[in-house]
Amino acid sequence: MKTEKSAQLFTQAKTCIPGGVNSPVRACRSVGCDPLFVAKASGCTITDVDGNTFIDFVGSWGPLILGHAHPEVVEAVRRTAMDGTSFGAPSPLEVELANQVCAAVPSIDMVRFVNSGTEATMSAIRLARGYTGRKVVVKFDGCYHGHADSFLVKAGSGVITLGIPGSPGVPDDIVRHTLSIPYNDVAILEQTLRDPALDIACVIVEPVAGNMGVVAPKPDFLRTLRELTRELGIVLIFDEVITGFRLALGGAQERFGILPDLTCLGKIIGGGLPVGAYGGKREIMALVAPDGPVYQAGTLSGNPLAMAAGLAMLTVVQRPGFYEELEEKSAWFGAELEKIAAGSPVPVTLNRVGSMMTCFFTAGPVVDFESALRADTERYGRHYRQMLAGGIWLAPSQFEAAFVSAAHDRQHLQKALDMTESSFKKLMD
Ligand SMILES: *Cc1c(COP(=O)(O)O)cnc(C)c1O
Repeated sequence: MKTEKSAQLFTQAKTCIPGGVNSPVRACRSVGCDPLFVAKASGCTITDVDGNTFIDFVGSWGPLILGHAHPEVVEAVRRTAMDGTSFGAPSPLEVELANQVCAAVPSIDMVRFVNSGTEATMSAIRLARGYTGRKVVVKFDGCYHGHADSFLVKAGSGVITLGIPGSPGVPDDIVRHTLSIPYNDVAILEQTLRDPALDIACVIVEPVAGNMGVVAPKPDFLRTLRELTRELGIVLIFDEVITGFRLALGGAQERFGILPDLTCLGKIIGGGLPVGAYGGKREIMALVAPDGPVYQAGTLSGNPLAMAAGLAMLTVVQRPGFYEELEEKSAWFGAELEKIAAGSPVPVTLNRVGSMMTCFFTAGPVVDFESALRADTERYGRHYRQMLAGGIWLAPSQFEAAFVSAAHDRQHLQKALDMTESSFKKLMD
């Protein structure tokens, strides 16, 4: 595979951008290679600057449920751009998208648009704290909620130890108010939430975890979480930045029938443009400025291009059969992967929920961060490089999801299966 142009660009990039990338995992360090620079993408394929084309299972880390450059999304953006790209004043597309989001996501009465998932989660915990007058945020080990200070807490080994910063530059004073506990552990959850010494404002959770690799919630985990938070007056926040509009139109909350108080959205909602959103119960959202005292603002929030892309995306996914087809295709792909994993010479555990899945290089089961960390990341790195050489574009980390999009057809998926099978075989030594 020729990679000269990517290599040249990376050398240049490293002189003017830290690590040569604008988001760390793109640097591909954990899989032992240098990043390929992308020239263009279409449907489920992505082409680098040296002209190599790959079948893409990253989908820009989640947004591209329709694949790249979907004609209706591109046309909506183009048409909207002709009339101006930002107004700093309300415009009709915001109202339209807000209405659709409220109609689509069961627990959302009102929604505020921001520009990224990070902004959505950061604003949601501010609102939860403003609403309850309490301080502590409870999160789960291995869940990612963007890069705001409060969330950068290393997965602590202690059960009820208050957080220590996972990054220099984050003061202890801030993460002191963040508590990280194991995912899927109902006993620790109950013990923590009932601890009278803790002043808990909210619990934030990925209802299906996607950032330690895909980990499904155990059947009683989300239900217990909902019952306890309701009883204790704690705000329950679902971070549906990945799962929203992916696991169903109404996200994981629709799929599992469990409604949070606040929901964070991102990725798919922008159809590939920078959008995030947070929304929920009218009573809580009423506290957001200017109706209420909880401040949150944004120069480019509700940006017309982003709103147009989001609306186009919502139009397509609401066509009859969209989710059924995606689910069916993903289930078939998952079942074939299972077979390959079962016959693999190295231990592999496949976790899948709908169109998001991860092959962990461990015997499993993988049910939380601790068991995810047992995966052999060295082996994943080799698998990643072998797949890339075979034309398959995976996330450059063991702890990410592979996404099936509407643009993947059986032939693309079959090619990925064939490559996976031969890659596993080469991982023996
Ligand atoms: C990607 C992600 C975020 C952060 O979104 P950005 O747009 O990258 O800021 C937050 N939560 C979850 C669950 C995510 O997957």
